[in-house]
Amino acid sequence: MSAGLNLAQQEAVNYMHGPCLVLAGAGSGKTRVITHKIARLISAGLAPQQIAAITFTNKAAAEMRERAKSLIGRDAKKVVICTFHALGVRMMREDGSVLGLKPQFSILDSDDVTSILKDAGGTTDAATARQWQWTISLWKNMGLNATQAEAQARDDNERVTARIMGRYEERLAAYQSVDFDDLIGLPLKLLRDHPQVREKWQAQLGHVLVDEYQDTNATQYEVLKLLVGERGRFTAVGDDDQSIYGWRGATLDNLKKLPIDFPQLKVIKLEQNYRSTSAILRAANNVIGPNPKLFPKTLFSELGEGEPVRVVDADNEEHEAERAVARIQSIRAGNAATASGGASALAWRSFAVLYRANHQARVLEQALRKAAIPYKVSGGQSFFDRAEIKDLCAWFRLWVNNDDDPAFLRAVTTPKRGIGHTTLQNLGTFASKYKVSLFEALFSPSLGSVLPAKAVGSLHEFGRYVNDLEFRARQTTGAEDARAFMMDWLKEIGYEKHLYDGEDSEKLAAARWTNVLDFCDWMSQRCGGTIDDTAGVTLESEKKNLLEVAQTIALLSTISEREQDQDVVTLSTLHAAKGLEWPHVMLVGVTEGMLPFKLGDEENPTGRADGPMSEGILQRLQEERRLMYVGITRAQRSLAVSWTKRRKKGREMVAAQPSRFIAEMALDKTTVKEDPREKLKALRAEFAKKALDTAAAAAASAP
Ligand code: ATP
Ligand code: MG
Repeated sequence: MSAGLNLAQQEAVNYMHGPCLVLAGAGSGKTRVITHKIARLISAGLAPQQIAAITFTNKAAAEMRERAKSLIGRDAKKVVICTFHALGVRMMREDGSVLGLKPQFSILDSDDVTSILKDAGGTTDAATARQWQWTISLWKNMGLNATQAEAQARDDNERVTARIMGRYEERLAAYQSVDFDDLIGLPLKLLRDHPQVREKWQAQLGHVLVDEYQDTNATQYEVLKLLVGERGRFTAVGDDDQSIYGWRGATLDNLKKLPIDFPQLKVIKLEQNYRSTSAILRAANNVIGPNPKLFPKTLFSELGEGEPVRVVDADNEEHEAERAVARIQSIRAGNAATASGGASALAWRSFAVLYRANHQARVLEQALRKAAIPYKVSGGQSFFDRAEIKDLCAWFRLWVNNDDDPAFLRAVTTPKRGIGHTTLQNLGTFASKYKVSLFEALFSPSLGSVLPAKAVGSLHEFGRYVNDLEFRARQTTGAEDARAFMMDWLKEIGYEKHLYDGEDSEKLAAARWTNVLDFCDWMSQRCGGTIDDTAGVTLESEKKNLLEVAQTIALLSTISEREQDQDVVTLSTLHAAKGLEWPHVMLVGVTEGMLPFKLGDEENPTGRADGPMSEGILQRLQEERRLMYVGITRAQRSLAVSWTKRRKKGREMVAAQPSRFIAEMALDKTTVKEDPREKLKALRAEFAKKALDTAAAAAASAP
């Protein structure tokens, strides 16, 4: 059991009866502690269902389940391994009724929220609506409702936003819908205000483990506290230097509060990094050096000095991408040359190219394609963000929850079925007057008073069709039947034709239709029970009916999350790379203005990198520095960092400088900031030599 764990890790794994915090730098085996602790808790007598391990992404959950499976076998399936959001869904499907929520409530995505806010705030401008969305989300993450937000508003702008938030909340309640923030906020309400629910969950969970604890927000912390109760049987692992979601409301206060809220907290530090060579680790430690230290940490590696970290300059993004591709090819070639037999070229999956912002992927994709190198983009547009998939999901949502108005509007107009804008507007006015959903309004006997008979007729037809589909979906179990059902339905609504009509290029339409077919395959496999639920909403892999499967999809951000074993190069944002590792990593766009992102030009009044900074900018700079630290520490054996001499700024190309973080890595031997331990070694050697010299001199002068 203790195999593959150092003493400090073992201590963390064996400490089971109280609160435990593992605080340690990158690659020190924090996540490994969690997987091993799951096994340990089971061997100590907890049932797998009594253990919840909370990860930051669905992908991390899937990976952890795989690891747990190799340690404990089939029992791993029963352990609750999921994100805070997925756990929230689970809690609300079980107990949300005490908050007036039906078990089939819908989960709105960000676009749905934007359009509801446009409506609630009376604007057609998406940018304004998204600004409200952003603020409302931050408030929700701080645990404020509309009334509380209004009370603490600092200016008119915030007061207006708070009032819009009020209208937004009403609409969500009427639609039986929740947004992503509610997946944390409502479970908190459940646990806080309903003792019987709280007691149930506390009794059910014997131990809760949280990975990437530094990126939890205030509400998540409250949920955690209520889940574990006074006994506080939990294990949190994290690294304050890797906190990179401050912009989304994550707060390091959660780390600071732990020892205060749980005085019996056991804090364990890990100091050995098992991931990276010394050269890489030194660059990482140097970069994070200038940040204020919340918890002082040391980190060393025994993997040897390794290759020096390379800095690569390029003329522009295209050139940079070419150089990245060339580097991948040359490392592979070098490896094949040294390997005996020459047959063992490095796998493509050994490489990752990381960048600050999603849009940077495009140029890299083009270069990789040109070189015929297989790759995947992670952290980019997800499969579920594609319009065609959203169309289908809207229909599913409507079957599951008839009151989901945004889904209703999308389904009734996709494909067009002769129900026009005016009809829908009148239906909407009617529905809000009687405080019912659009679907309910449609069957109201008095609808004829506001709409012509023909319009009422088409609405009725649509309503009956949805009811009929819902009924059939409930009867449909097993992969084959589910697939047949979906193909029939798509034919009935003429979806393929709709795609071809809407798309100028036939090729694009065909690609969309392929996505639709992939999606249907995937849905039907889930009905057949051949795929586990990566979101942890349903844990047993038994046959399900199509309606049940439809309920779980809102949470999954990408279908390809399961395809971990593809042998491809990874392109990823730095944010999405958190927690992961690759033998060879390239960080591109390490250019001032890109990483750190837009600090100098817009907000620093002097425009000088070393100019005076406001507190806000300073904090952002520190978060960017942590992001750089996260990037560097993804690399196991080699790391290259590149920057461009020119970069895009709006539509223009401007001259650019290497990121200040490159200098901070202190790579150049002449400017290397000394490693204190190296310095100490050198000093000791000098002392020893002096002592020897003195001794020798003494010996020589002795008679
Ligand atoms: P991050 O901060 O990036 O999330 P982490 O602290 O979670 O990193 P892990 O991902 O758990 O670190 O571990 C980093 C690497 O080191 C992994 O490949 C892991 O298998 C390996 N590792 C961890 N602990 C040990 C150990 N005691 N012996 C050998 N290898 C280890
Ligand atoms: Mg980790």
